Amino acid sequence: MIVILLGSPGSGKGTQAQRLAGKFAFQHLATGDIFRTEIAQKSALGLKAQDYVRAGKLVPDEVVTEMVAARLEVRGKYLLDGFPRNLAQAQSLDEILKRNGSTIDLVFYLTLHPTEAIRRMSSRRICVQCADVYNALSRPPKTDGVCDKCGGKVIQREDDAEATAAKRLMVFNDLTEPLVAYYKAEQVFHSIDAANSPDQVEAALSAVIESARTAR
Ligand code: AMP
Repeated sequence: MIVILLGSPGSGKGTQAQRLAGKFAFQHLATGDIFRTEIAQKSALGLKAQDYVRAGKLVPDEVVTEMVAARLEVRGKYLLDGFPRNLAQAQSLDEILKRNGSTIDLVFYLTLHPTEAIRRMSSRRICVQCADVYNALSRPPKTDGVCDKCGGKVIQREDDAEATAAKRLMVFNDLTEPLVAYYKAEQVFHSIDAANSPDQVEAALSAVIESARTAR
């Protein structure tokens, strides 16, 4: 089963992906998390990606696509969070899936007003070790700066600073929004209101996944 989560930065894709992965045993493929880990490790991939990530720009398609293709080689249950991010990546994904005999089962679009997305990004905190997502206002870690799950350091993402967050929203509008039209015509497309609470959004997503599983 292949499920894609689309949505602007700050719309809650990462939070929902973590919840759904646990609940439905998906492999969570989060391209942004992979880049952050590789950058922290100063790997060759990290070095290629770091200037783009810091500036809030998209990493070149060939770098991302190669990275995703390697992880999707084996057929399985995947939840794609942050990929595809533009039309070229969506077309590459179709090719990758064709090669391994899979198809896209569900595409979710988490909708959120840009003002609220910026507000959420400014209070978002993440664990550098396990990528668990916190919120300084509504869901702080039990001990300040320490991840509840793994004890890793909880920080604000560099690219969540206001200027870069605004830039990322612009990139989303220009490059990722057109994907909505690409997938909208398909039966697999579902628009979900991300302004609701995380529990409500999770319930809405879960209901669709449950019914897709039953229909298979
Ligand atoms: P995210 O954690 O999804 O907000 O991604 C953080 C950053 O990683 C983005 O602003 C991009 O610089 C980079 N990135 C993540 N996914 C992709 C992708 N599919 N294509 C290009 N760049 C990406």
